[in-house]
Amino acid sequence: MSEHFDLVVIGAGPAGEKGAAQAAYFGKTVCLVERAPKPGGAAVNSGTIPSKTLRETALVFSGLRQKGLYGVEFHVRPDITIGDFMHRERQVVETSWQLIEENIARHGIATVQGTAHFTGPQSVEVTRHGQEPHALTGSAFLVATGSHPWRPSYVPFDGAVVIDSDDVLSLPQIPPRLIVIGGGVIGCEYACIFAALGVQVTIINSRERLLTQFDHDVSDALRQEFTRRLGIQTRLGAEVTSIEVRDGLGHVTVGDGATLVAECVLFCAGREGSTAGLGLGEAGVATNARGFIAVDEKFRTSTTHIYAAGDVIGFPALASTSMEQARVAVCHAFDLKYKQAVSAVLPYGVWTIPEVATVGLSEHEARALDLPHEIGKASFRENARGQIIGETAGFVKLVFNPEDQRLLGAAVIGEGACELIHVAGAVLGFGGTIDYFIQAVFNYPTLGEAFKYAAYDGLQRRSKRVSLQAGLPSIKP
Ligand SMILES: Cc1cc2nc3c(=O)[nH]c(=O)nc-3n(C[C@H](O)[C@H](O)[C@H](O)COP(=O)(O)OP(=O)(O)OC[C@H]3O[C@@H](n4cnc5c(N)ncnc54)[C@H](O)[C@@H]3O)c2cc1C
Repeated sequence: MSEHFDLVVIGAGPAGEKGAAQAAYFGKTVCLVERAPKPGGAAVNSGTIPSKTLRETALVFSGLRQKGLYGVEFHVRPDITIGDFMHRERQVVETSWQLIEENIARHGIATVQGTAHFTGPQSVEVTRHGQEPHALTGSAFLVATGSHPWRPSYVPFDGAVVIDSDDVLSLPQIPPRLIVIGGGVIGCEYACIFAALGVQVTIINSRERLLTQFDHDVSDALRQEFTRRLGIQTRLGAEVTSIEVRDGLGHVTVGDGATLVAECVLFCAGREGSTAGLGLGEAGVATNARGFIAVDEKFRTSTTHIYAAGDVIGFPALASTSMEQARVAVCHAFDLKYKQAVSAVLPYGVWTIPEVATVGLSEHEARALDLPHEIGKASFRENARGQIIGETAGFVKLVFNPEDQRLLGAAVIGEGACELIHVAGAVLGFGGTIDYFIQAVFNYPTLGEAFKYAAYDGLQRRSKRVSLQAGLPSIKP
């Protein structure tokens, strides 16, 4: 006997939860299948929320926020244990589970705990140790099984000396030295957290910059702040040739022959789709070599009533976008005239120390696309709030079209960057110009005010350029 639902969702991470709630909200019968004992997926259990909570904990334990402001040097409490460090993370994770469970119950969504696999295009079987398999059929399916760290065979993962980002949360103690392999989002975030706790951190990245998707001014400034504030060493453009564990230490050799040694090596150089064992072949759903599912603009897989959303479809693999993709997928599955596409304006936030965030085009992307563009910058050094909180190395950078002043993109580095970027995101979303920043009144003293001065700077640069071209003196706005 199988149970039938309008929608069967596999995976209760951000994509699965929000997709299920969207369908239930419109009166569909929904069953949400999750293999883990608790919902939330990587966002709650191993990724987003734990790492952001640990960052806050590290900032508090290290006194880093106050450092240098009051003429008092703060140091990490010498007796800090991994238990102290993880205490708040546990509290936040438990509250998150409760909030998700309440949301699922409020929407009347049926839940089944176990591992799902397709037995045909219209049916799945859910298995759980010691229990009879549970058969489900659906009119539509949403695969939201997420991703997991990529573990290439040449890396000797052991969960203690050589670890991936999932292992961080079960480390028995804080290591004195840490080598992070990978200068992407996850590598940079964990590098900061450990460095804030006094760990000697080295990042090895094969690319010439950290966070290569970011505006170059921002990634260069971030690297400087890593060194200045946190003492993080960076080896950029360096290929790792071997990783070995000897005498309880990780030995990492790079292309120039140098070998670095540390108590812990964190390998985070990519992820792969969690699709193994899902029986996608039975359902006619195709995946690529890294296990990611290909979808069209409606999030349909190669089997049209099976949809996929979130990390399992690959880039950008963020909780923020995963939730929206799932809502849009469900609207298409049931022809609901509600959300037809994910917004083209996607903010990216990285909770490094300091935070960085971007939206729209960076200066180098505008140049590569051969678009007419000008930039405007405002430093937090010249901003009253920046002075008050000691965030003087940060800045706001705008990229705009000098012909019609339309905003093309923005980037922020500094405290609150991940929140501040939404101001630029709203202007971009409405197709606005930098005049918005010129005309708007911002609370004073705030970092947000820097948007106005970045816009003024942009106008000044443009007028200088026009004057130079015409051989005239420049006009100040
Ligand atoms: C360290 C780290 C930091 C991050 N920080 C951020 C951040 O700051 N902001 C941000 O937006 N994103 C962040 N992310 C990314 C974010 O966590 C993911 O994009 C998000 O969790 C993806 O959601 P999802 O629902 O697609 O998949 P997941 O969250 O991975 O959930 C998938 C669920 O499916 C379940 N599942 C898998 N296979 C089966 C099966 N066969 N049967 C039943 N259940 C199954 C899994 O148990 C899991 O619960 C971070 C990730 C990491 C690792």
